[in-house]
Amino acid sequence: EVTQRKQFTSKVSVQSTQEIAQLGVEFNKMLRELHLREVAKSDAETRLRQQALTDELTGLPNRRLFWDRLTHTLDIAARDKQIAALLYIDLDGFKVVNDSLGHSVGDILIAQVAERLRGRIRKSDTLARLGGDEFTILLTRLNSKEEAGLVAKHLLEVLAPQFRVESHEISIGASIGISLFPENAVDATDLLRQADSALYLAKQHGKNRVMYFTPELESLVQERLSLENQLRAALTRSEIALHFQPEFDLVTQRIVRFEALARWNHATLGNIPPSKFIPIAEESGLIVSLGTYVLERACREAVRWQGLVAKPIQVAVNVSSIQFTQENFVELVGALLRASGLRPDLLQIELTESVMLNGIEAAIDTMKRLRALGITLAIDDFGTGYSCFSYLPKLPFNTLKIDRVFVNDLATRPEMKAMVQSLISLAHNLEMQVVVEGIENTEQLEMVRAMGGNQVQGFLLGRPTADPMSQLLASAGSEQSPGLVLRP
Ligand code: C2E
Ligand code: CA
Ligand code: CA
Repeated sequence: EVTQRKQFTSKVSVQSTQEIAQLGVEFNKMLRELHLREVAKSDAETRLRQQALTDELTGLPNRRLFWDRLTHTLDIAARDKQIAALLYIDLDGFKVVNDSLGHSVGDILIAQVAERLRGRIRKSDTLARLGGDEFTILLTRLNSKEEAGLVAKHLLEVLAPQFRVESHEISIGASIGISLFPENAVDATDLLRQADSALYLAKQHGKNRVMYFTPELESLVQERLSLENQLRAALTRSEIALHFQPEFDLVTQRIVRFEALARWNHATLGNIPPSKFIPIAEESGLIVSLGTYVLERACREAVRWQGLVAKPIQVAVNVSSIQFTQENFVELVGALLRASGLRPDLLQIELTESVMLNGIEAAIDTMKRLRALGITLAIDDFGTGYSCFSYLPKLPFNTLKIDRVFVNDLATRPEMKAMVQSLISLAHNLEMQVVVEGIENTEQLEMVRAMGGNQVQGFLLGRPTADPMSQLLASAGSEQSPGLVLRP
């Protein structure tokens, strides 16, 4: 009975004979034990089944259960000719919270976010956590497609008030991509992919926003994906070249450094500008190998310049915040300097304000260790991001680069002149040198000179070139060349 029908509760009937009776008692004990085990086992199985379908942190359906519900719901919606919408939600800036405040705070925040989202949707809608800071919501029986956008807006509103986790007040936004059934897709896989594409574009458009999927959007995302793959290949096929743009000292009127600028010469698409491929490299993580490649090549190139002219020539290299915040970045720079034999003080690294992504203390620490190698640091594009003037004195920069947006209208807009003048004073008061970029005409040049800028860069003085040596020799060989440009 036990083996064939799994009847663990069945018992042996005890006989009168002493021995057999004893055997029966022991046998029943054994069966009782087996029964207890069977009960425990089936309890555990139920628990496991539950865990396999729900997210432990939030208790929400996980990816698997969501997938089941999605396919099931779409079947019903198709039969009943209903409109449904898939919302793909991703928190903005969650990584920063996780990295700076720790994973336990991040976990509590995710649970609180889930709670707020849950409170804002109907019982019949499915909210799921796909993992990390990604959620999905399936809205059914919609009257119109606009309804989905409305729900999405409400969801953003519900996340707007600050969260309180332990002693921290945390603001976190979200981006939402929407795909509609049956307008955009009738298939679960397509619907999910489209909502994800819409989410991607919502992020690109400055976050904390809602974006509907459109067919045009798909080709944009496709193009981006294909560029990403081609960039990966380009790195191994050496389609990435470096050009160098001179920076002149306003006093000596000589070239003091060249800035290395990456160029992508695509076999069929031609020249792809850095404004297009650097963001892709950053999002895909390829920036780390791209940046390492640029640093290595730039150091080796700069070694070749030394001795051509009387003064040493620096090389400036743009480093993405993503690379800067890598664990071993300082060691990498040290190793590349040693391998190339470049004197450390001849390398300048250009950083942007986003180096504080992982917190100001971490940024200061990395910067100090870089300075200890002997290299110099410049803050690039200053004033174009979320400038917070209070941190500037704390960061050990040698140089401030004034962005060309300030220079464009320097001669025509008085307020721009005031801005540049103030930035130069600010930098000088903090004992930083000032490089003004984007000088395109002599009027701008003379204004910057009069305002006390230290160094200048721009098309008037020299375009990025693949052959900086010739430019260097020309400027040194002729008594007039750089002076001619600088003092027309
Ligand atoms: P950036 O660091 O601000 O570099 C200066 C950009 O301004 C360069 O554009 C340069 O060609 C351009 N420029 C220089 N003088 C003038 C001028 O007088 N007028 C005008 N209109 N433009 C001028 P480019 O080479 O297209 O680079 C764009 C951006 O791409 C750079 O801006 C930098 O942020 C990024 N980038 C370029 N190479 C690298 C790299 O190797 N690594 C990283 N992380 N970023 C890079
Ligand atoms: Ca730069
Ligand atoms: Ca710049």
